[in-house]
Amino acid sequence: MSHPLRFVVNHHRATTLHFDFRLEVQGMLPSWAVPKGPSLDPAQRRLAVRVDDHGMEHLDYEDDHKVVWDTGVYEPAEDPVAALERGHLRFVVLDQKIRGAFAFTQTRMGGNARNWLLLKVADEYADADAVLDDHRSVLTGRTLQDR
Ligand code: MN
Repeated sequence: MSHPLRFVVNHHRATTLHFDFRLEVQGMLPSWAVPKGPSLDPAQRRLAVRVDDHGMEHLDYEDDHKVVWDTGVYEPAEDPVAALERGHLRFVVLDQKIRGAFAFTQTRMGGNARNWLLLKVADEYADADAVLDDHRSVLTGRTLQDR
């Protein structure tokens, strides 16, 4: 990779409160809505619904309904374009609230190609007891409740 690839996790209030996980791939942000958000527990398999790719401006975008819950750089285990096409993308994040290796894996649950899972890969950052309940923006310190 010629430059660090970035990621962002939004905390987003829409019809429901959820998280959106976005990974930079070739100048765009392939995105998944993750209702329960990421976990550091490898036993927690989190539903991740692939949504429309977003533009790079969403790396630091916040408004009344959306904050930057986490952001930083990630390292894909392999070419992320090929990994997305194959339906299994493993990567390591290097900053802030979530750390270590994760994977998005396409399940096609219910026959829906948009259904993936977000998994924490077992590594030294895995923690079955970690509670990720700090919902402040890592950019502004605000929460959705402050808006
Ligand atoms: Mn959303």
